[in-house]
Amino acid sequence: MRAGIGLDSHRLEPGRRLVLGGVEIESEVGLAGHSDADVLTHAVMDALLGAAGLDDIGRHFPDGDPRYRDADSVELLRVVAGLVAEAGFEPVNVDATVACEAPKLDPHREAMRARLADALGLEEGAVNVKFTTGERMGFVGRREGIAALAIASVREA
Ligand code: MG
Repeated sequence: MRAGIGLDSHRLEPGRRLVLGGVEIESEVGLAGHSDADVLTHAVMDALLGAAGLDDIGRHFPDGDPRYRDADSVELLRVVAGLVAEAGFEPVNVDATVACEAPKLDPHREAMRARLADALGLEEGAVNVKFTTGERMGFVGRREGIAALAIASVREA
């Protein structure tokens, strides 16, 4: 059994879509980035890559690469699942926390779990998603951005 962690953050800007865990959420501001800037999915990807000893997301999906412009991060997570399998591992479980002041994410929790679990070939019960706020402190609390932290475990397949 091996574990890995992932941490990511993206800036909130007007005129961008807000996509978290592969779920589009109605919001006046969205996350800025080269891909869809799905901070939760990016943290999960880095956690899995870490658990399998495969470096990080930036090595596999370089920021400036036009192939990843506005990319659907859940599709990139499927690629990561394939890399993990090629390395001889299978995901066991994922747990993640999203730090977001607004909007309220709770109504979207089950949909996020379902999309992430589907991409990883896991039961929904093996993918947990938690939410917290910044208590009006720091970049999360000032609604300048959203951060996500994830841990993943894998076992030899
Ligand atoms: Mg990112």
